[in-house]
Amino acid sequence: MSDQTKGFDTLAVHAGYEPDPATGARQVPIYQSTAYVFKDADHAARLFNLEEVGFIYSRLTNPTVGALANRVAALEGAAGGIACSSGHAAQIMALFPLMGPGRNIVASSRLYGGTITQFSQTIRRFGWSATFVDTDDLDAVEAAIDDDTRAIFCETIANPGGYVTDLDALAKIADRHGIPLIVDNTTATPWLCRPIEHGATLVVHSATKYLTGNGTVTGGIVVDSGKFDWAASDKFPSLSQPEPAYHGVKFSGLGSMAFTFHSIAVGLRDLGMTMNPQGAHYTLMGIETLGLRMERHVANARKVAEWLEGHDAVEAVTYAGLPSSPSYERAQRIVPKGAGALFTIALKGGYDACVKLVGALELFSHVANLGDTRSLVIHPASTTHRQLEAEQQMKAGAAPNVVRLSIGIEDVADIIADLEQALAKAG
Ligand SMILES: *Cc1c(COP(=O)(O)O)cnc(C)c1O
Repeated sequence: MSDQTKGFDTLAVHAGYEPDPATGARQVPIYQSTAYVFKDADHAARLFNLEEVGFIYSRLTNPTVGALANRVAALEGAAGGIACSSGHAAQIMALFPLMGPGRNIVASSRLYGGTITQFSQTIRRFGWSATFVDTDDLDAVEAAIDDDTRAIFCETIANPGGYVTDLDALAKIADRHGIPLIVDNTTATPWLCRPIEHGATLVVHSATKYLTGNGTVTGGIVVDSGKFDWAASDKFPSLSQPEPAYHGVKFSGLGSMAFTFHSIAVGLRDLGMTMNPQGAHYTLMGIETLGLRMERHVANARKVAEWLEGHDAVEAVTYAGLPSSPSYERAQRIVPKGAGALFTIALKGGYDACVKLVGALELFSHVANLGDTRSLVIHPASTTHRQLEAEQQMKAGAAPNVVRLSIGIEDVADIIADLEQALAKAG
């Protein structure tokens, strides 16, 4: 089946899998197998030489996990993809083929709190670093790029601030410098935005969120557009030069699959951030209804945001789907079907009111998660963004008087009623 000609919801149900030829199983089976029997010694050698695509060992590839990676690749309009053990693993896997000691990335200052920590602290242990910039200041982005920069990294809709990134503008800068734009598309999902169509090379996901959709799995995905010419400069030797970690294979010779094959043959093999087949199966189940769910998520989010904007206790609502949002115009271009279902509200009553609100909500669950069918709430300054400096908290849109809402797919009247009673108690 030609994936390019099918619609989104068709791909969400079918892409990446044909009924199992041995059993006819209609649903993607959970291939709970570590290893796969080689037909003969030649077959084994061809697989190890990357001359034939197949299964060797589940740290590298597994049929259930592969179906998931290929399904997300189809939804994103990508050439290939890999599934990983978490969204954070996916970020490391996206950077790994590009980076080396002394290399850096230019990253948006508006990112998921855990990503800011990963980029500002943990990657330094590998000799990598990140320069954080306000991606609305294109001159600052340009100025932050130096000879050692290997990627620009941003989120489509930045969590938690409800800020939409100008992907096209960043892609142009990345192009000019011969480096890829990497977009974390977790909060938008490919239903709202396909970053590759805006010039991105790599797209990463926390599959933990909307892709699975019901809070059952920790997982991540990286997909590659297949369009970046890794051999155009000497910046990406792991992809353009003989790779010593894979007996001298030149991955750029694999064309549009260079990044994907490197990520499997070297990245998953040696870093081992592999997704498990059971998790992949749950995520595949979730993706079948991604379009239906996102439609409801964004419809509910818009109504709740509008209602909150008119509430006396609320100082501000940062939902890019509201005409009052500074991101509104841009949202029409980047996420025209809706600005996601995640936004923050600032309460006039400050930190104390936020803590009271979180305690008084009944339908909303107070959890460190987002993108669940259930409505969720968290106070970033005391939780997800606690480890950040006060200035980083402000820049990330997680000031002390800010509460983050992830609007679920329940009846919107019930969501609003819960907020109404809790805001009354928060004072
Ligand atoms: C949750 C999240 C991550 C990290 O994903 P995990 O699956 O928790 O590792 C990265 N980026 C964004 C935008 C997220 O929401």
